[in-house]
Amino acid sequence: MSSLGKQINTWIFDLDNTLYSADSGIFQQVHELMGKFVSSHLNIDVADAKIIQKKYYKQHGTTLRGMMDNHGVDPDHFLAEVHKLDYSIVGPNLKLNKELKKLNGRKIIYTNANMQHAINVLERIELSNFFDEIYDIKMANYIPKPEIAPYEQMINQFDINVKSAAMFDDIAKNLVPAKNVGFTSVWIDAGYENFSDDIQASKKYLDHETTNITKFLEDVNKGKI
Ligand SMILES: [Mg+2]
Repeated sequence: MSSLGKQINTWIFDLDNTLYSADSGIFQQVHELMGKFVSSHLNIDVADAKIIQKKYYKQHGTTLRGMMDNHGVDPDHFLAEVHKLDYSIVGPNLKLNKELKKLNGRKIIYTNANMQHAINVLERIELSNFFDEIYDIKMANYIPKPEIAPYEQMINQFDINVKSAAMFDDIAKNLVPAKNVGFTSVWIDAGYENFSDDIQASKKYLDHETTNITKFLEDVNKGKI
């Protein structure tokens, strides 16, 4: 069995909580803005909005999808509103960036967020223009991971050879379709429980697990993995 670094030539990364810790405040801001959006759009108080927000996230994969399906919300408007974030709290991980730059082949961002969010975060973590492609929720026709259709579309769109592609994500559930389409799956265990995740049911689809993506890539680059 050859090492991952030799086998893989397409590296697909989730963004939030995979390449940086969104848990340090970015997600909290998004959740708050979503709550405000739902509250003002449906004309209900913020507490009730939070319940709906959570319900849609669970039932539809994203709050956005629930708002689109049930209330005809314009997705671009929604996404622009909930990503009016203070990005100054996000900074680079230079050790991780060094390891990312050693990987041979194409690098792709695959995010359930929108393009502007990805661009803003990549600028803050000093990886602007590093990725060959950014596949965002709009390109995925607003169908979020872990539904399999956007994975298949991404493979076609970027002409990905699945046997030589690896996907990294902090949500184990998102790696089930990744594995099913033929990617090598790498779970970044960010050390917290995402209420929408199902780690137990996803376990057998995870080729690799790590709590530290920098260390993992360091080992890949050394040929240890
Ligand atoms: Mg993530």
